[in-house]
Amino acid sequence: TTEPTAATVTATAAALGGGSAGTRVLTGDRPTGPLHLGHYFGTLRNRVRLQAEGLELLLVIADYQVLTDRDTADRCAEHAENLVLDYLAAGVDPDRATIFAHSAVPALNQLLLPFLSLVTVAELGRNPTVKDEITHSRQNTVSGLMFTYPVHQAADILFCKADLVPVGQDQLPHLETARTIARRFNDRYGNGTPVFPEPCALLSETPLLLGTDGTKMSKSRGNAIALGATEDETARLIRGATTDADRHITYDPERRPGVANLLRLAALCQERSPEDLAEEIGNGGAARLKRLVTESVNEHLRPLRTRRAELAADRAHLRQVLRTGCERANAIADATLAEVRSVMGTV
Ligand code: ATP
Ligand code: MG
Repeated sequence: TTEPTAATVTATAAALGGGSAGTRVLTGDRPTGPLHLGHYFGTLRNRVRLQAEGLELLLVIADYQVLTDRDTADRCAEHAENLVLDYLAAGVDPDRATIFAHSAVPALNQLLLPFLSLVTVAELGRNPTVKDEITHSRQNTVSGLMFTYPVHQAADILFCKADLVPVGQDQLPHLETARTIARRFNDRYGNGTPVFPEPCALLSETPLLLGTDGTKMSKSRGNAIALGATEDETARLIRGATTDADRHITYDPERRPGVANLLRLAALCQERSPEDLAEEIGNGGAARLKRLVTESVNEHLRPLRTRRAELAADRAHLRQVLRTGCERANAIADATLAEVRSVMGTV
């Protein structure tokens, strides 16, 4: 795991030094499937909260990044539309947010080239998240995109000069790459005036939610509980979660990661402490724990799921939100690229 760095803030935007006006927040997701509880507690809630605090929110649907660990980006458009659906259901205000797909913004690919020149091959090879993703990849070979997508992601972050990036723990190495690129670009071309701010990661109190198999909950590992799952599906998935044979339930993340993860999940939903819940369950065993988690999750998500069902009825609206977002992102990216070319002295 990656330890939070000095550049990681876990508090609210206010902790960034007051004035939130003009602060830009960028974050995003791969269109590889429906968003799950890991997204919700790991980053989505933070995005909604920051937007409510008045910060400008940009959400990138990272469609090229789908090709890092699979051959084709099939069903990408459908997944992208469903991401918009999950964002809006979770409370993102589409009138104030810019939701875009990075493939729809050509200037990003032009930023990628100078950015690639600012990192070494050795640095790219050391990225622990990339290593973990190679382990879980569906492919037998590792493509160049797998090693370079953190640089592409730096373009996603820096094109809009984002200050704050609410992410899960797996993204911290990528954030370091983006910060390094911003710093080196400014040093090399800035002439005393920085072009890019160094973005800060914003970790939630749940930087790594585990899936039902005990590894990071991920869209593509078949171990996730989707926000849009039915209550019955949710119950079935939680029944299948990895725990252990000890009937006495205790909160011990080191020795009992599966049990601790479930306790944390219920605790997040109920706004109680996991220790407190463990005590309440006592000798009830995994079955009682899982029933409690299921009820907590279903209850917590009920309003979101109701909103989601309403929004799902209007697919044209979801597509329109994405189209508008892509137009806005293109305008921002074109301006940044013009500035980059000017300071670099290219034609
Ligand atoms: P995939 O399996 O396709 O990579 P994913 O579930 O890992 O999907 P991403 O789109 O890669 O989701 O990640 C989007 C954001 O959600 C990132 O900021 C990531 O850190 C965060 N996130 C994803 N999974 C978790 C998790 N289990 N716990 C906390 N945050 C998470
Ligand atoms: Mg991922």
